[in-house]
Amino acid sequence: PIAKLYNAMRALSEVKRDTKPNKDGVVVYWSRNKDLRLVDNTALSYASALAQDLGVPLLALHIFSPGDYAAHDRGPRRIDFQLRQLAYLKVEFAKHHIPLFTITQDRKKRKDIPRMLCEKLEEWGAVGLFANVEYEVDELRRDIEILERTKEARQSGKGFGGQVEFFKDFCVVSPGELLTKQGKPYSVYSPWQRNWADHVNSNLQDYVSQQNGPLLANPDSAKSHPILKPMFDHEIPTEIEGFELEGGDEEAKTMRHIWPVGDGITESIMRRFTHNKMREAKFFEPPLEGEDEEEVDDPKKSSKIGKYQEGRNRVDWDGTSHISAYLAAGLISPREPIRIAYKLAGSRELPAGRDSGIGMWIQEIGWRDFYQHVLCAWPRVCMTKPFNLNYDGTIEWATDDDGAKLQAWKDGKTGFPIVDAAMRSLKKQGYMHNRCRMIVASFLSKDLLIDWREGEKYFSQNLVDADLGSNNGGWQWAASTGTDPQPYFRIFNPLSQAEKIDPNGDYVRYWVPELRSLKGKSVHNPAATLSEKKIKELGYVMPIVDHAKARVKAIDSYKEASARG
Ligand code: FAD
Repeated sequence: PIAKLYNAMRALSEVKRDTKPNKDGVVVYWSRNKDLRLVDNTALSYASALAQDLGVPLLALHIFSPGDYAAHDRGPRRIDFQLRQLAYLKVEFAKHHIPLFTITQDRKKRKDIPRMLCEKLEEWGAVGLFANVEYEVDELRRDIEILERTKEARQSGKGFGGQVEFFKDFCVVSPGELLTKQGKPYSVYSPWQRNWADHVNSNLQDYVSQQNGPLLANPDSAKSHPILKPMFDHEIPTEIEGFELEGGDEEAKTMRHIWPVGDGITESIMRRFTHNKMREAKFFEPPLEGEDEEEVDDPKKSSKIGKYQEGRNRVDWDGTSHISAYLAAGLISPREPIRIAYKLAGSRELPAGRDSGIGMWIQEIGWRDFYQHVLCAWPRVCMTKPFNLNYDGTIEWATDDDGAKLQAWKDGKTGFPIVDAAMRSLKKQGYMHNRCRMIVASFLSKDLLIDWREGEKYFSQNLVDADLGSNNGGWQWAASTGTDPQPYFRIFNPLSQAEKIDPNGDYVRYWVPELRSLKGKSVHNPAATLSEKKIKELGYVMPIVDHAKARVKAIDSYKEASARG
């Protein structure tokens, strides 16, 4: 679909327009779910400059599509985060005399967006429509249809026939830009990453200096423009029907507290990571502001980013950036981490991952790009298919008739403290540490032998940083159906993993209060030292599965599946 999008864009540009742009018309920037910012936003910057050139005002449009949210298992927290940011952007756009107008598309008519939008563009006398590419299949198809409709309108002289362009913006290195020597898409991360790092380093000056132009203000008169005027008074909804936060006001308060939006927020989150000292036993525990954290004199070495090589593997430390939600919804430009790292490293090249915390952290940004690239090159992963077709319908998942095991996993009541702690952090914060994501994903798909798609869905519904590419990639990696060249017998042992990533047990004691009386690392395996009766008295549960036996069963099942595939 991505190639079709570019073809459709080319095809449109080849059909001449016989009408002159309407002088009372507007240029429309279509804000997407993943580019919710004013700075370094490729489509917005282009649209804004064009509006100035043509002397027509700019309109910012955002379409809510509950039907798409349902199809993508988008959760209320991610939507709430987006709505809060849009309310902030509404005010910021207005300062530039630009209205931010929203349309909520009927849930049952999500496929009708191209028709609806083209009619609106015609009604507004739009000169052009500009947006950043969304790489998911449904979204690409929608955008292709808009291009085709516009082309038809140009040919027939009826309907919206203006300029339509979609820009690459969501990645540092966009999907399709890196190919193997044979001209094929990379299917393995390591060689892809080497090429990615070389590419970034060879174009470093561009990334560092080349910001998309700033947002230019509409003239004052935009406020009395017949089309735009009523749009200035239009309010951003505070909820989307069917996607309300389950925990009501209480949850809304927590989300606002943990994931704030507004002026300077992404800068302060990043500064906390790049300049503050790593404190032991202080895992992700907001508030982000007003903490007694110290800035260090030599951030390159002693800050959290400086110590990222160790910090990223400790769930009891606050050792990662917590910028994922902001990157996923585009509150921060994907190119900003490169600029920050470059400035901090103070060298001509970005350091390699093995050499420093900064380099290691930048590699993670590479993972994010990699999974977008996979999504584009193998669009079947968007449609619940495994990347590795050997596992397409061949794994015999365990029977969990009443769904009790899946539910225990979701509720953080599996009897494996590290799994339970992680699942409870997800429920409470809409976030989970990366090491824990790997452990709970391996536990669901291997120990419980439950279809990884159940886990992917639950993550998507609950993570504030939910992103199809990274979430699907992470799940398929853990379930051994993805791009990971390691075979299926890599199965995380939740007990030994717990001792590595939470050596004193502080993380588990925080999230699983039933176990707070247990000292040191004994908290990771209560069943080893306590009777079933005692565990129940503490209010905790016995392990729902025997890891050693489950491991053997999972290996057998995957082996058979692989032979069948
Ligand atoms: P840092 O360690 O500070 O990393 C910086 C940034 O790099 C992150 O914000 C993120 O944008 C990117 N990144 C880091 N690790 C990865 C990775 N493994 N894959 C892709 N990008 C990465 N990340 C999401 O953004 N959305 C998801 O829906 C998501 N689902 C996941 C599901 C599973 C099963 C797994 C194993 C991982 C998933 N990740 C996802 C990746 C990763 O866990 C989070 O990006 C990370 O924990 C966010 O915390 P941070 O911002 O502090 O990360």
